[in-house]
Amino acid sequence: MSALSYRLPQARRLLTPLPGPRSIALAARRSAAVSLGVASSLPVYVAEADGGVIVDVDGNALVDLGSGIAVTSVGASNPAVVAAVSDQVARFTHTCFMIGPYESYVAVAEELNALAPGAHEKRTALFNSGAEAVENAIKIARYATGRSAVVAFEHAYHGRTNLALAVTSKAMPYKSGFGPFAPEVYRVPTSYPFREGLNADGSPMTGVEAAERAIGLIETQIGASRVAALLIEPIHGEGGFIVPAAGFLPELARWAGANGVVFIADEIQTGLCRTGAWLASEHEGLVPDLVTTAKALAGGLPLSAVTGRAELLDGVHPGGLGGTYGGNPVACAAAVATLEQMRALDLSGRAREIGAAIRRRLTALATELDFIGEVRGRGAMMAIELVEPGGRLPNPAAARAVVASALRAGVVVLSCGAYGNVIRLLPPLVISDELLEDGLSVLEDALREAAAVA
Ligand SMILES: *Cc1c(COP(=O)(O)O)cnc(C)c1O
Repeated sequence: MSALSYRLPQARRLLTPLPGPRSIALAARRSAAVSLGVASSLPVYVAEADGGVIVDVDGNALVDLGSGIAVTSVGASNPAVVAAVSDQVARFTHTCFMIGPYESYVAVAEELNALAPGAHEKRTALFNSGAEAVENAIKIARYATGRSAVVAFEHAYHGRTNLALAVTSKAMPYKSGFGPFAPEVYRVPTSYPFREGLNADGSPMTGVEAAERAIGLIETQIGASRVAALLIEPIHGEGGFIVPAAGFLPELARWAGANGVVFIADEIQTGLCRTGAWLASEHEGLVPDLVTTAKALAGGLPLSAVTGRAELLDGVHPGGLGGTYGGNPVACAAAVATLEQMRALDLSGRAREIGAAIRRRLTALATELDFIGEVRGRGAMMAIELVEPGGRLPNPAAARAVVASALRAGVVVLSCGAYGNVIRLLPPLVISDELLEDGLSVLEDALREAAAVA
């Protein structure tokens, strides 16, 4: 990676126990003002963030191995993004692209069309959140096909609006109590090699076999001709960084293509350099009909996109897609700068380096600690699945202990997975080698400590 300069010192620093007095005071104000329904992982309040550090209001500097859930890949105050945003915000903050269009929206669309897989003509529409992009991808697929059914997968996460929740598979905390959900959503099993059942002959299920299982259910329970879209994350994110067996995604895409079903890759978490490529679809040569992106797209500003076949996106009547803030000019300026930084710093290459460093250290540890069921992931999207020692039963208590102990030492790691037993690592792609190694050392200590009582 080319040399980066940081604004804040890139080192862990604990001045108080966490949370410190200023964070405790803010927490008291918060509980009297903010809905309890909105929870935070960290007990500290943030003052600044840059590169791989988050500095809290008491002056503690934490190592960030979460990037605000895969958002701040270029850093949380990347100078190029800050400059682009400052310039744009001083010129105009908003016109509404549906009223007065501007160049940066077009530039983001051009960039996304160029980087999405496939040589076909593409178009893009911009929105604010990931959930909104998912909802619009489904709208576009239904419009184009005239069909209603949407197929989603076990362990899927697609956001928190009503239709996005309908396609999401985890009840707590996302869906419980919030129904009824949008109809015409069907769920089929995914490919989860670590937890997958065996075939009748005892062999592990291959990717193609897992796809055939899903396709068989779709054909018998829904009927291919009723399916508008098949929606899947190339690697399940919130679901536990589940990398499907090789061949699973291409077989699903082949079936979709053969049956007039729109194949939607939700790359909101996997996209934009995170897995060591522009999009995770590239790893298996997938050419999705529609791709959703968001999280890392605008360097921390809210922006999401649906990118895909021109005939699908241009098929919708004018005015059928949009929203007041969708493709806001400040967010678009941030995205242009973010994508330029990703290219200039070769952040896909950097994601592969980070992934290799994490894998090296954690696979060594996995041979030592038998509550590490699996170390998996792609690029800088790596996870550790924790189990009851000697088996495969999920061990969420151990995951909670590891996250808490790493945090006490000043390292931010997140958990995920249907059973809450997966620790996920999503460092900013601009993190320095030294800081990454320091963060991983703390994580190793936390794993050792939790293993001793597991
Ligand atoms: C985060 C996420 C979403 C939802 O994005 P929001 O911006 O939170 O609405 C959708 N799909 C995937 C795969 C995600 O990781």
